[in-house]
Amino acid sequence: MHPIDLRSDTVTTPTAAMRQAIADAEVGDDVLGDDPTVNALQARCAEWAGKPAALFVPSGTMANLVACRLHTSPGDEVILDRGSHLYRYEAGGFAVVAGCSVALVDARAGLLDAALVDAALRPDDVHQPRSRLLWLENTHNFGGGSCYDLEQLAALRGLADARGLSLHIDGARVFNACVAQGYALSAVAQRADSMSFCFSKGLGCPVGSMLVGEADFIERARRVRKMLGGGMRQAGVLAAAALHALDHHVERLADDHRRARVLADALGRWPGLSVSVPETNLVFADTGGCHFDAPALAAALADEGIRVLCPTPLRLRFVTHLDVDDADLSRVVGELDRLRQDARFAG
Ligand SMILES: *Cc1c(COP(=O)(O)O)cnc(C)c1O
Repeated sequence: MHPIDLRSDTVTTPTAAMRQAIADAEVGDDVLGDDPTVNALQARCAEWAGKPAALFVPSGTMANLVACRLHTSPGDEVILDRGSHLYRYEAGGFAVVAGCSVALVDARAGLLDAALVDAALRPDDVHQPRSRLLWLENTHNFGGGSCYDLEQLAALRGLADARGLSLHIDGARVFNACVAQGYALSAVAQRADSMSFCFSKGLGCPVGSMLVGEADFIERARRVRKMLGGGMRQAGVLAAAALHALDHHVERLADDHRRARVLADALGRWPGLSVSVPETNLVFADTGGCHFDAPALAAALADEGIRVLCPTPLRLRFVTHLDVDDADLSRVVGELDRLRQDARFAG
């Protein structure tokens, strides 16, 4: 039986149609601005997001790094949730490249609100760092794929304006939020000075992320991208995959969300397991109330060819994506139902 990989939506491999789009791509030297496919992708993303400009970068991490660098000066503080990808999973690059510091907020499901941010802001005092950048993640990865609604975003934008903060949205999975919440990409981007999103997650591309913002911001971003070694030459082969994904892989994210709910139902039948209610394509199951730990269950699943992640020793993460269909899902649910009766895991 073929392996089923639920560790992340980054494990997707390009479909035959995407590979054809890659093969057919017109290319040029993008560092010189000559790649027509990259230019088309950037124009399309800027328009979709309702922003004046966009820049194609190799990864979400680089998009975030560029944004930090441009929105802050060394010593400035970024206000963000403790579970943010920027803080947890990007090797501390914000401190290295932007020289900025962080004010960590503990938000429910990773979603900030005006009161939490307000409490984290610094007074204007020479002893203290400057509060400079408000950092939101939508969907929130470590928060379980949670999404902001538009009212929450509007309130946070209002606070940022009142307190002179820039606002960046790490939208690595923002299309999942759009599909789940039924809002337009531009409705989210409108509240941010800059926003990043990934093609290499649920959209199923091999490589690539986009940074959108004002024209002068993106112009400066181009120089930082070059400085970080992210200027790519015939990147049209990657941009062609992204254009294909925007046409064919956005609306289908609803299937991933439906499958995540089925998975959460199956996990919810497990006594002691605390299961998140999936808003998008991520499902967390916490084993704190069980007599086994998360890696033990992950290992038992791996024996059956089902791979999951343990972001902590007490947490399993299941991610649905393009390469998991309904037959795979049934197999996973069947295996979970079987392991629940297993002597090693039965309550
Ligand atoms: C994956 C992810 C990133 C980083 O993207 P890479 O392309 O893997 O560097 C940034 N933010 C969030 C929320 C992510 O999930």
